[in-house]
Amino acid sequence: MWRALRPDSINVLYDEKCRKSLSRYFDIIFDKKLAKFKLLKTFPAEFQDMDNAEMWKLHNNLIKEFKTYVKEVDSGNRKPDESAKSSLLDLKIELAKRILERCTFCMRACAVNRLKGETKYCGCNSNFPVSTMFDHYGEEPELIPSFTVFTIGCTMRCLHCQNWSISQWYEPGTLYELEKVARQADIARARGCRNLNMVGGDPTPYLYHWLKVSKMINENISTVWNSNSYYSYPSSQLLAEWADVYLLDFKYGNDDCAVRISDAPKYWEACTRNHLVAKEHGELIIRILVLPKHIDCCFRPIVEWIVKNLGKGVRVNVMFQYTPHWRADEVPELRRRLNSDEMELTVKIAKEVGLENFIT
Ligand code: SF4
Repeated sequence: MWRALRPDSINVLYDEKCRKSLSRYFDIIFDKKLAKFKLLKTFPAEFQDMDNAEMWKLHNNLIKEFKTYVKEVDSGNRKPDESAKSSLLDLKIELAKRILERCTFCMRACAVNRLKGETKYCGCNSNFPVSTMFDHYGEEPELIPSFTVFTIGCTMRCLHCQNWSISQWYEPGTLYELEKVARQADIARARGCRNLNMVGGDPTPYLYHWLKVSKMINENISTVWNSNSYYSYPSSQLLAEWADVYLLDFKYGNDDCAVRISDAPKYWEACTRNHLVAKEHGELIIRILVLPKHIDCCFRPIVEWIVKNLGKGVRVNVMFQYTPHWRADEVPELRRRLNSDEMELTVKIAKEVGLENFIT
C-alpha cells in the first residue's frame, strides 16, 4: 500500500546521489551492514571506578579505535566480538546518566537533576513520555517507512511550531517503559520499517533514554536522530558513532532570527558544530524549512555554509511547507505561507551555490 502512496520511496533506492551520500544507511536497510549501536555493543570498554574526566578521555580515545573497527567489520575483515561484558555503548549510557543528574544535554545547560525529578526549560524529567509512535510515510523518500517516535518536550520555543501541542506539553503523553519501546522497534523492523526515527519536540532531552533503548533492541534497524540541532557539545560526542543518520534542522542563518523566533541564543554555533560532527561520525540529511522573508538573512547563508563546509553532495531537503501554527501571528512575516516567488528564488539560490543533492 505505502509503495503506491509513495513510489518515490522505491525510486530513491536507485538514486545515485542519494545512495552515495547515505551509502552505509542503505546497506543497513538491506542487512549488508550492522547499525552502529549493534557494533557499539560488541566493542569492549572497561570504565568501572573511573571519574567523569577519565571516562570522557577513555570514550574519546575509544571512538577513534571504534571507527577503525567499523571499517574492518563492514569490509568483512573482522567479526564482531559478542563477548564484551562492558561495552562502548555501556560507557555512553553511563556518561549520559551522569549528564541527566546535572542536565547539559542541550545548549541551555540548565544543570538540574532530572533523575531526582527536577525540570527546567524543556520540562522533561527522568520519565519517557510519548505522544505517538507509528510507521511514518510523510518523511523523506529514503526514510519511508520510518518507525517514528514522538516524545514530549523541546529545547527550543519556535513560535510557529507545527508540533506545539507536544513540544510545549499541552498534552502529557503516555509514559513508556524503555523495554517496550525497544520491542516496538524490533517489531517495526520485522514488518519492513527502514529505521527508528527519534523525534519530538526534540529527542535531545531523552538522549540517555534512547541510548538505553538501543541497548535493548535486537533487530538490525538504523537509528535516525531527528533534531533541531540545538544540542550541546557533550551530546554531540555521545551521538558520535551511535546515530546512523543525523536528520538535522538548519533553521536560521544568524542568531538574531534564532533568538527572535525560537528563543535560541548561540543557535549558529551549536548548529554548525553539530553538523560538522554529524558529517564526521555518521551520515547526514539536512532539513531547511524556508520561512517567508527569511531568504537573504537565513536561507542564503545556510546553503553557502553547507556547500563550503559539508560539500555539494550532502543530502538537503529544502522544505516549502511552512504554515503558520501556534503563536506564529506574533511574528509579522510568519503570518502567511511562502509565495511562489520565494520558492523560485530559493531553488535558484540552491543551484547557484552549487548544491547537487537537494530535494524540495
Ligand atoms: S535538555 Fe536542555 S532544556 Fe532540558 S533540562 Fe537539559 S539542558 Fe535544560
